[in-house]
Parts: sequence; C-alpha cells; structure tokens
Amino acid sequence: MGFNVAIDGPAGAGKSTVAKLISKEMGFIYVDTGAMFRAIAIYFLRNDVCPEDGAACEEACKNIDVGIVYDNGAQQVILNGENVTGQLRTQEVGDMASRASVNPAVRNTLLELQRKLARENDVVMDGRDIGTVVLPNAELKVYLTASSRVRAERRVGELKEKGIEADLDVTEKEIIERDMRDMNREVAPLKQADDAILVDTDKMGIDEVCTAIRNLIKERRG
Ligand code: C5P
Repeated sequence: MGFNVAIDGPAGAGKSTVAKLISKEMGFIYVDTGAMFRAIAIYFLRNDVCPEDGAACEEACKNIDVGIVYDNGAQQVILNGENVTGQLRTQEVGDMASRASVNPAVRNTLLELQRKLARENDVVMDGRDIGTVVLPNAELKVYLTASSRVRAERRVGELKEKGIEADLDVTEKEIIERDMRDMNREVAPLKQADDAILVDTDKMGIDEVCTAIRNLIKERRG
C-alpha cells in the first residue's frame, strides 16, 4: 500500500501545480484524475455520445479503455491505445468532461484504475472526489480552494502567457458554472472530506502552499 495524498478542490485552485511540485520533491507519482475524465470526454466528442443520455454513456463506456503511463515523470493518458495527452486541455474537452463526469458509469470506468495506482505507489492524486470516494483512507487529505475571482484572474493570466486574451468576467462566470455542476451532482460531488485540511490559496503563493503540504506529509509519515 502506498502513502496516499488526496488533493481535492474546484477548478483553478492550483491543485495540479501544487500536486506536481510536491510529488516531484517527495518522489511520489502524480495522478491527475481530471485528465482521465478528459480522455473519456475526447471519446464522447469524437463519437457524438450525449453525456446526458445515461444508456448511451453506459454503452460507450464498454468501449473505453483508459490507461496511464509515465514519461520522465509526466503522466500520459492513453485512450484505447492512443496517447491523447496533448489534446486534453481545451475548454471544449473540459466542459464535456464536467458534463460526462456526472454519469456513474463514467466514474466507475475510472475508479479501479485510480485505486490501483494508489495501492501500488506513493501518490499525490488530485481531483474532486479523491478524499471522499476514491481514497477515503488516504493518509493526508487537502481541500485546496480560492475565490472564483482569484481563480479567474489566474486562468486569464495563464492564457495571456500563451498569447490568448480572455475576459475576466466571462472566465469567472464559466468557473462558477463548472463549480455548480461539480458541487451539485448526485454522484461523488465536489466537497471537502470531514478529515481534509482546508487550504485557502487566495492570499498564498505556490511556495507557501507547497511548504504547508510538505510539512503535513512529513508529520504524518513520521
Ligand atoms: O481537473 P480538471 O479540470 O481537469 O477536470 C475536468 C472535469 O472532470 C471537472 O470539471 C470535473 O467535472 C471532472 N472530474 C471529476 N472528478 C475528478 C476529477 C475531475 O468529476 N476526480
């Protein structure tokens, strides 16, 4: 059994940045579960699967095999034998992932893979339901959050670095919509686990957040 760190929280709270840095420093593997949902979203988009049609989702999931490999420590997502890692991070794929992840068949398709990775490795796993559903016995659970405004500002900044202009108000509205869907779905909604430590990153830099989590890991590992 590996040492398991679960990091949950809304989109744009800094989960993946923090999880990547911590896992590298501590020699853990980083498991980005959002990327797995995004791989399923790619299948849905390519095959015109309606994420609101329960029977169609269930049928489609029978034809989906998602696997994870690591290339120089970087997670690669394999969808039915094809490496789709470079195609995951678009708005369209993110929205489809958010809609598809409401469906229990979609969630079950990924659950065993997520648990197996955590059984066999020391992991920092990030997502929405890691501390509540996927790894309820994780040694450390962190709920990372920030206000929607701050998350939107970060997102707009990231896009600007890539040469893309985005409107702050529109971006914040999209973030709030995604939060609503992730927090209010029936299956595995985004919420803080009772035993998770709340870290509000509104006024914290990445280094400060990483130091806090690193200290918690050291404390619990003994
Ligand atoms: O974290 P990321 O933005 O890549 O996740 C995309 C979508 O996948 C989220 O909006 C969420 O709906 C879904 N997801 C989930 N459970 C997870 C990880 C992601 O439902 N553990």
